[in-house]
This record gives sequence, C-alpha cells and structure tokens, in this order.
Amino acid sequence: MKPVDFDLHQPTTVAEATALLAKYGDESKVLAGGQSLIPLLNFRLARPEHLIDLGRIASLTTVHRTADELSIGAMVTYDRAHQSTAVREAAPLLAEALPHIAHRAIRARGTVGGSVAHADPAAEMPAVTRALDAVLVVAGPQGRREIDASEFFLANLVTVLRDDELLVEIRLKPAPARTGAAFDEVARRRGDFALVGAGAQITLAADGTVEQARICITGVERTPHRATEAESLLVGSRPDVRTIEAAAARAQAGVEPTGDLHATADYRRDVAGALVERVVTEALDRAAQTMS
Ligand code: FAD
Repeated sequence: MKPVDFDLHQPTTVAEATALLAKYGDESKVLAGGQSLIPLLNFRLARPEHLIDLGRIASLTTVHRTADELSIGAMVTYDRAHQSTAVREAAPLLAEALPHIAHRAIRARGTVGGSVAHADPAAEMPAVTRALDAVLVVAGPQGRREIDASEFFLANLVTVLRDDELLVEIRLKPAPARTGAAFDEVARRRGDFALVGAGAQITLAADGTVEQARICITGVERTPHRATEAESLLVGSRPDVRTIEAAAARAQAGVEPTGDLHATADYRRDVAGALVERVVTEALDRAAQTMS
C-alpha cells in the first residue's frame, strides 16, 4: 500500500519544527529515520496530513563529549553512534547494544531519538537510556524541558512527549574508569526484534568490589525494565559465580512478562534470567580487564 497524501515540511531549525508541530497539532507527525513510521504510513496505520522531516536540522546530528556529559543529538543514526569513540568510551552499554538493533540498512537510517520517542519496549535504545539514567531533552513551543528516562516511558509506544514537542537530545553521565558492559538477546531470526534482551554496565572499585551496577531488560513489560534489585545485590559485593546467579535470579523474579504469539510469559522470564547472568558475567570480566 501507499500512504495517504500529506504535505511534507522540511524545517532547518528546532524552533521551526516545533512551530509547525504547534500549528498542525495531531494532524502532523515527525519523521526521523522513517524505519518505523514509513511502514506505518504505508499500511495506513498512521494518516498524518503533515509530515515534519527532521533530516535537515543539523543541530540534531551532533555527538558532544565533555568531562561531565555525553550529549547525543536525536537525529544521530545508530551507525554513527556506534562509530563514535565518545559513545564507546562514555557509554559502553550503549555501544554494546547498538549492533543488536535490526539489520545494517535499518541501522544506517534509524535514529537514536526516533527509537526513544517511538518507545517500543522490545527496542534496545529505550532500555539503555533507562539503565544509564539518561536525561531526555525535549523542545516545544514554550522552550525546553529535561525528563529523566525513568519518567519518560508510560506504556507500549506511549511516552510523556506532548503532541507539539520534539525529543532533541539524549544526555548521559560518562561511565567512570574500571567499567565494563555487555548486551545480549534472543530473537527468532537475526535482525528481528528480540523476544527478550538484557544489558549490564558494571563499574568496579579499586579493591575489586562492585561500585555501580546497571542492568536493563527488553521485551518483558510494557515499558523498558530496569533490574534494580539485582543491581542492589551486586553493589558492594566481590562478585563470584554464586552472587551473579543470585542477581540473575532476582532479575528473573522481578519481571512480569505477558505471553503472546511469539513466546509465553514463562519462557520470557526464564530467558531474562539466563541473559542477565550472561551479560553480568561478561560486563564484570570486561571491567576487571581494565584493571590488569
Ligand atoms: P521514525 O520511524 O522516523 O519515527 C518513529 C516514531 O517516533 C514516529 O512516531 C515519529 O513521529 C516519532 N519521532 C521520531 N523522532 C522523533 C523526535 N526526535 N521527537 C519526537 N518524536 C519523534 N528497533 C529496535 O530497537 N530493535 C530492533 O531489533 C529493530 N528491528 C527492526 C526490524 C525491522 C525489519 C524494522 C523495519 C525496524 C526495526 N526496528 C528495530 C525499528 C527501528 O529501530 C526504528 O528505526 C526506530 O524504531 C525508530 O527510529 P526512526 O529514526 O526510524 O524513527
């Protein structure tokens, strides 16, 4: 099928884009990489009269690193983020998660901001922003506001973004020294959305105990899941196999998946536990390697 007719707008500044959103309200839709929106238009599941293409707003395509902050523009593609040394150094969990997203062609067009705004609970970006305590910067006709990732996602494909607001930037605190990260997932076919995914970013103290643990799980609930109880169990410990197994068991007990056509709730819960054990082990190994 083909989309219904629409008017295409190509603003070159965020202010122009938000003015267009304010003018056309729910008759309009923002276009980023188009990897979710274009199929929705083609199937006529979305029928906007006005499409506001963000592709010409240069300020949304930068990655900027300072000592205290990593800032990633909403229109940075998955591929560009993955190639960025700043992302690899300051947000190793994000760097580990990016290659798991879809196929190469989709990673060349899809954007980090588009994924976060789309808020698919099976997607990698929302879960990673949640685990890394990202601050999401949003622009609207009244100016900018900052939203913690923990408050951004409300339900499957639903966020706190208002109709006249744009996500413009993702801000992260750079990972400290002695940090390692890993991401893994189970999908039916390579490149499909995962049935379940899990990521861990772990920082060790100089004495080898866990200083900070961040663990996320995708595909198990209506919003990206953060395994805070498993994190608490790890922090302060000198992790051995038993501690890691106990953390994975806590993560597994802490998810409340629902079953669907693709997998039962029990299967998703079991896979979540197994993946958490795997990524925590790998993240710890990588953190330890930074000390040798
Ligand atoms: P678009 O498709 O352009 O937009 C998506 C939605 O977000 C639209 O409603 C749009 O209006 C809104 N939006 C976009 N940018 C903004 C913004 N800055 N501010 C406010 N609203 C905005 N994703 C995964 O995470 N993991 C996968 O494994 C995966 N597999 C895929 C497999 C296939 C075959 C396909 C087609 C897609 C897959 N995707 C997967 C989805 C892909 O990652 C999309 O790129 C992503 O969901 C949306 O990003 P986009 O830049 O393409 O946004």
